[in-house]
Amino acid sequence: MAKVVIFSGAGISAESGLSTFRDADGLWEKYRIEEICTAGCLNWNRENTLTFYDARREQLDSVMPNAAHYAIAKLQEKYSKDIAIITQNVDDLFERAGCKDILHLHGFLPRLRCEACGTTHLIGYTKQERDLSCQNCGGSFRPDIVFFGEAAPMYEHLYDAMQDCEFLAIIGSSGNVVAMDHFARHIKVSILNNLEKSDAINEKVYTKVLYKKATEAIDEIVVDVERFLKT
Ligand code: NAD
Repeated sequence: MAKVVIFSGAGISAESGLSTFRDADGLWEKYRIEEICTAGCLNWNRENTLTFYDARREQLDSVMPNAAHYAIAKLQEKYSKDIAIITQNVDDLFERAGCKDILHLHGFLPRLRCEACGTTHLIGYTKQERDLSCQNCGGSFRPDIVFFGEAAPMYEHLYDAMQDCEFLAIIGSSGNVVAMDHFARHIKVSILNNLEKSDAINEKVYTKVLYKKATEAIDEIVVDVERFLKT
């Protein structure tokens, strides 16, 4: 298991042009989350939910990874065994920057998942064909996204990955969905990078706090990771 874990949220992709959920101008200002990405929406509000994710894919096609994604890719290339990348994001900007083996805790936007058997199907940035059925079982597809209130099977891997973690860097996460403070308390080095304080995070448990844009904080984070791995 990797000694260094880089854990990210919507904030790391904000400078690429993807809205976060909670910041001013975030997605919650424009959509009612309980109507389009909460457990059960696919039953009572299916077409609006699918249309929302069609639009997210179209938007994803129009943006690029930013300097923070690229710097992490470079770091991973250099120290592949020592670094794990875990994200709450459903975008593919880490992959497009060249990162490998990303643990996506909440799903992956360019992919659909069969509602019956779980078979996945990549569609890239295209609209979901409404009558597409699963080749394996004939079931219908949904976006491969964990909605609020649904089980998140990848959390088990988060706990595994954190077992040997000695250096944790959190970039662009408010802590409202996945709380990381309890891990940070027991980790030698922990860096928190957000734009500002969050009510859901106790900044005192982190050894370094950087309230600035991810693209401005990333060089310092990379230097700290390299220094840590060399000692
Ligand atoms: P959040 O929206 O709750 O919080 C975003 C955090 O990022 C805030 O703390 C903010 O200060 C920080 N931030 C904003 N811009 C930043 C920047 N340029 N540099 C550094 N930090 C910045 O995000 P969350 O904690 O990830 O939780 C929201 C949920 O929404 C997650 O489950 C995630 O899957 C989902 N989401 C994903 C995407 C995506 O895939 N790109 C986009 C929106 C929401």
